[in-house]
Amino acid sequence: MQIEYNTYAVGFCSHSERTAIQDGRKSPVVFPALCFALKHPTKGIILFDTGFSSRFAEICKKFPDSLYNFLLPVKIKPEDDFASQLTKHQNIRCEEVKTIIISHFHVDHIAGLLDFPNARFICSRESYEALRHLGRLGALVRAYCPKLMPANFADRCDFIENAQSVNLLDEISPFEFGYDLFADGSIFAVPLPGHAKGHFGIVFKNKNNETIFLVSDACWLSRAYKEFKMPHFITRLVHHNWHSYRKTLSQLHKLHKNKPEIKIIPSHCGEIPYEGH
Ligand SMILES: [Zn+2]
Repeated sequence: MQIEYNTYAVGFCSHSERTAIQDGRKSPVVFPALCFALKHPTKGIILFDTGFSSRFAEICKKFPDSLYNFLLPVKIKPEDDFASQLTKHQNIRCEEVKTIIISHFHVDHIAGLLDFPNARFICSRESYEALRHLGRLGALVRAYCPKLMPANFADRCDFIENAQSVNLLDEISPFEFGYDLFADGSIFAVPLPGHAKGHFGIVFKNKNNETIFLVSDACWLSRAYKEFKMPHFITRLVHHNWHSYRKTLSQLHKLHKNKPEIKIIPSHCGEIPYEGH
């Protein structure tokens, strides 16, 4: 099944490039929060993550939520919210969005969830269970903001682990298996452990029959998987498991070497084209 998709930058933050890649520049660079709108032939509009939001920027104006600014100094205007951009560029109303796949629960991936009242959510049970009972400080140090979560999230949520697990054969080797999210072979969720607990990417074919692999934060820049460059070791503080992160990155590097035609797309790489640019 072939799926048309559009890429959006939903807010930006800036850090030293060296944070994302060990031999990067010391000077600050801008990291977009990329999100994706997939047009599934039978399931309609499916979003992969929702980026930052102007709601989050408002929340961050007051202490103690202003502490999020140290981790994620966000820049976003209301017209750049994912819901606003979808209407502007594709004439998609927020009520039309029926499914949002969540790669993980860091704020720069979930800050727009409240803008899509009719969406069901697909996320990993492991990631959700790890966060749902956290207190304010515990959430903050894990870059998770409970205020961004719909109150009825649990009722609207389907777990990736409940989908059928499928052997992907040689398609994206050395990654071996994925979860067939809609039981139709269209979109597979692939575990990419290390960055956050229960961190997932997705694989599908685009309208040109190319394989698209959205890898979220398995790496922050394309150069990281192309050259197998780890981020600065200070980021061990934000990664869930450094050893698993390295293994996942090395697998992405091998995949790229074996099949350079596969489009591997990290969620914060400034080289990826997006709507309006
Ligand atoms: Zn993240």
